[in-house]
Amino acid sequence: MKKSQLIYIIVLPIYFLLGNIEVKSQFLIDQDTFLNPKSIYQKAQISNVGSENLKIEDFLEKQDSFDFKAISGPNTNLGFTKDNFWLKFKIQNTANKTLSLFFETGRPITDIIELHQIDQAGTIISQVTGDLLPFSEKPLSHRKMIFPIELEANQEYEFYVQYQSDGEVINLPLELHSANSLILTSYKEQLVFGLFYGILLLAGTIYLFFYFGIKEKSFLLYFTYVLSIALLHLSLDGYFFQYFTPDAGWISRNAVLLAAAFSTLAFGSYVQVYMKVSNFSPVLNKIYNSLHICVIALITAIFFIRSVVEFYYPLVNLFGILLLFLIIGTLIVSIRKNAAPDIFFSVGLFFFFAGFLVFILNNFSVIPNSFITENASKFGTGLEIIFLSLSMANRIRILKSEKEKMQGIALQRSQESNEIKSFFLSNISHELRTPLNAVIGLSKSIQESTEDQKIKSDLEVIQYSSLGLLSAIDDIFDYSKIEKKELKLEERQLEISKVIQELRTITDNQVKNKKLKFIYEEINQLPKYIIGDKARIRQIILNVLNNAVKFTQDGEVKLSINSVLQKNDTVNLNIIVQDTGVGIDKEKLDRIYESFIQEQIDDKRKFGGFGLGLCIVKALVELYEGKIEISSEQGKGTKVQIDLNFKVPSRDQKLPSSPLVNGDYDLEGKHILIVEDNPVNQMVMKSILRKWKNTSFDIANHGLEALDKLKASHFDLILMDLQMPEMDGYEATEAIRKGEAGSKYQNIPIIAVTADATDKAKSKVKAVGMDDYMTKPVDKDELYTKIQHAFYLVKVDLSGVL
Ligand code: ADP
Repeated sequence: MKKSQLIYIIVLPIYFLLGNIEVKSQFLIDQDTFLNPKSIYQKAQISNVGSENLKIEDFLEKQDSFDFKAISGPNTNLGFTKDNFWLKFKIQNTANKTLSLFFETGRPITDIIELHQIDQAGTIISQVTGDLLPFSEKPLSHRKMIFPIELEANQEYEFYVQYQSDGEVINLPLELHSANSLILTSYKEQLVFGLFYGILLLAGTIYLFFYFGIKEKSFLLYFTYVLSIALLHLSLDGYFFQYFTPDAGWISRNAVLLAAAFSTLAFGSYVQVYMKVSNFSPVLNKIYNSLHICVIALITAIFFIRSVVEFYYPLVNLFGILLLFLIIGTLIVSIRKNAAPDIFFSVGLFFFFAGFLVFILNNFSVIPNSFITENASKFGTGLEIIFLSLSMANRIRILKSEKEKMQGIALQRSQESNEIKSFFLSNISHELRTPLNAVIGLSKSIQESTEDQKIKSDLEVIQYSSLGLLSAIDDIFDYSKIEKKELKLEERQLEISKVIQELRTITDNQVKNKKLKFIYEEINQLPKYIIGDKARIRQIILNVLNNAVKFTQDGEVKLSINSVLQKNDTVNLNIIVQDTGVGIDKEKLDRIYESFIQEQIDDKRKFGGFGLGLCIVKALVELYEGKIEISSEQGKGTKVQIDLNFKVPSRDQKLPSSPLVNGDYDLEGKHILIVEDNPVNQMVMKSILRKWKNTSFDIANHGLEALDKLKASHFDLILMDLQMPEMDGYEATEAIRKGEAGSKYQNIPIIAVTADATDKAKSKVKAVGMDDYMTKPVDKDELYTKIQHAFYLVKVDLSGVL
């Protein structure tokens, strides 16, 4: 601390106590080039003349009747006042030249200040300034209350200054400036003020943007608080008057009052929301609300009740101080209740209190005047805003981590619900396939054994409807797989012409019922075998063909296939399905692959269908890296073009894809073990195998029984259900592969026959060592092919070993 400051600390209270010291000597000055302003307060005296608004001449006459007191400090505060004050002092120019100086007489928001300069000849020069006059009429165009004065060589002057206020505080800086010191002080202030307002502007705008980004209320309140603080300081510093309301008037006169009231309101609301006061103390929350109501009442009074304006200044300060204590109380309670705000917020508040304290102590001259103490509230507020900004940034981090946590929970939930969905779907498919298996299998079996034509055709209807139901189940199941990106293709050799033949038969039957014409055209002869997924290829073409038949009332449906052999053993199949049906309108065509769209719902009522077909077709075509194009004209018909590439097996690779010779089912003396717990499924299996030549079989009800049967007699192949009591298909297979049924069975062909069509089941089947997999309802041709295939592979395997 400087020596001079120490002296102030010791001397000032004494001044303050003595109060009334006669000051007689004048202020001597001999130059106008000094760099630091000079305070004349020690040479000045002040008198409160009450409500009297005297002219200088009247004052001079009456002045002896007034009680003059010495000034207690360099920036004395006269308090909230409506009275008129007169200040007097003498200055003597001891230099031999005229000195041009500037006299700062009051804080920037003083209402009216009159300065009267009287020379030794008794000539009076009067000037007036204040924020009740337009800015342009100020004697010096500066935000502060400054009068330019001229002191002639070796002359002594008496100065009289009159202060008028409508209730605001009057401060007495009383500084004499040279042009140099005025410029230097202004620059220094400009730097600090620039920083201060810059911080407010940045903090305010950034958090306003954040508010728009995350819509969190505390950010908007913070912005409002920063804005009101900026307004308050702009008014106190005189900038608001200078730049926003230079013509003076109502707003200019009340700017400080309103800004102070708004900042109390904004700060209180911000703290209340930021600290979530209502959560830990409803009582404190009520106090905040009451205080806010008082402030709002004050704001309303400022606008409408002008007769008691002088009370508003102390009142708004009182509310400010109350808020200060309320915040301290809130902090203490929040710490006690374990709801303390973060450290940045607390440090921010600390700076706010510290700045405020220094400002008040300085106002009461308890601590000496200096650039720092005078601007204490600016430093305090600036640091407060910086720390509150940090705390808001911290809040963003907390909100983000809360959001991430919520997202984590949501993700976990969606994973769980996905798992439930998968389980549900596989269960549904299992539960629906098992009875369908029985319906299809047994009706086929009866159909083959009966001669009654009526029964035969009724059974055909049953089968047709069951197959429709089965394909609907498959569609739902496939759709869920597409959603989960789990749809995969098998790569097996297949006889494509047979698949096409089958599709032609189905379509022929369908068009017959609707009296349509079905045309098939094969532009180049198809290769005998291709490598692909038979079921999926069938599904692609059948879906499109079904749509063509479904949406055509009369005319024809045409399927044409062109195959072009390419290099690298591949074949390009160009499949075109054309109809003369209702067609598709253009808007709908653009969204044709989307499932469940509104237009489709309307069609559904007319034509039926899940609205999944084309969505699945497109996904499958994309899996084959092929192309699908649909063109259509409403009322004229639709054309679907599909372009797919398949590998063709080279000659020596070819496997017997269909071991059926002349429609004979002959297993040449093989003994099969059927492991199946469901009696209906057992019946279906029996009814199929019984009709095959040279085929014998036995049935085990579960895995354990299967192991026993294997130990007791000889089997060539096992058809294994998966879900069974006692020991399921997976466990039984593992036991067999480990040799628990005897080492000779370790490589026995095992084919899974299951209603579980999930990929999970398929891959588990492979993992436990089964040779093949087929789904129920059992198709006898597929079963026969799979069995033949299994035997063939064993043969190839063995020949490889030998
Ligand atoms: P759906 O199971 O309802 O047939 P799709 O995905 O196969 O579902 O077809 C979606 C919609 O596209 C159908 O509901 C129908 O409105 C239209 N659509 C498909 N193919 C044709 C066609 N050949 N002629 C007219 N409209 C068609």
